[in-house]
Amino acid sequence: MQINGQTKLYVIIGQPIGHTLSPAMHNAAFAALGYNGVYLPCPVQEDSLAEAVSGIRALGIRGGNVTIPFKEKIGRYLDGLTEQARIIGAVNTLYWEQDRLIGANTDGDGFLQALLRLEPAAAALPGAVVLGAGGSARAVAVSLVQAGLKRLVLVNRKLDKAGKLAVVLRDLGADVQVMAWNDPDLRKMISQMPLLINTTPLGMTAFPGSPPIDCEVLTPHHIVADLIYRPAETEFLQKAKSKGCRTMNGVGMLLEQGVLSFRLWIGREAPAGVMAQELARWL
Ligand code: NAP
Repeated sequence: MQINGQTKLYVIIGQPIGHTLSPAMHNAAFAALGYNGVYLPCPVQEDSLAEAVSGIRALGIRGGNVTIPFKEKIGRYLDGLTEQARIIGAVNTLYWEQDRLIGANTDGDGFLQALLRLEPAAAALPGAVVLGAGGSARAVAVSLVQAGLKRLVLVNRKLDKAGKLAVVLRDLGADVQVMAWNDPDLRKMISQMPLLINTTPLGMTAFPGSPPIDCEVLTPHHIVADLIYRPAETEFLQKAKSKGCRTMNGVGMLLEQGVLSFRLWIGREAPAGVMAQELARWL
């Protein structure tokens, strides 16, 4: 990497940020294209978000990413949001449109791209059961419905949170049902829906275990996705695989959201193969 007076700077802001793979992925992409850019992690304290955005403007930073805990909070400091980021209510990507700093959300479409590689007709499936209703569930559900998925079941502990997401999805034209984990009809719903997506952290190295659903109902007709990528195969995906399901972990989403962000910053196709290789090296 040759840093000089022309080097363009990109950042990821969040806290904690030490685990992020985005700098490795994007710096590998810059190098592969011979693009004179550098992407750096910037830990930002929770009460310093406004100053961080002012810094991005003042320092001429060309774009970047936003992660926990700022995805939902950063919108008010920006000059605009994409329509999709507005609907999702969260931003993971910052880019410039002339002199306006814009917030986009590539998480949901990143998931969708990864899913379409596994099942090209995913958007035409009869429906999906989404486990969780947090930030990533919002992004994934909005993208699925915008792509054409007609029916969703949202399963969450806090039913009011799932209810708010259901309102957004119904506005987009979807048929949405909200269920508690112990709903007696959940088993039947999962058996009817060919797509099951875990968006909770249950199964991450830091949250061992598995979402509390009966995996006996799964069949080889099911596609089961888990947004988690550490470990590469969660207990949940192992159970699904043992029932013959097609499975997908969170690496594809991580890659594809980065590919979409890259395109917004540079206006060029990202070298996805190089980025995937770099992720594999670190995971
Ligand atoms: P979030 O906004 O905090 O949402 C977490 C969701 O999980 C909430 O619906 C929460 O339910 C539920 N949950 C948490 N602990 C639970 C438990 N013990 N039992 C049942 N439900 C529980 O988090 P997020 O940003 O959506 O992230 C969720 C997961 O997605 C994480 O594992 C993250 O690493 C992964 N992720 C992956 C990618 C990728 O690129 N692959 C991108 C983003 C996120 P309540 O609302 O009831 O509390």
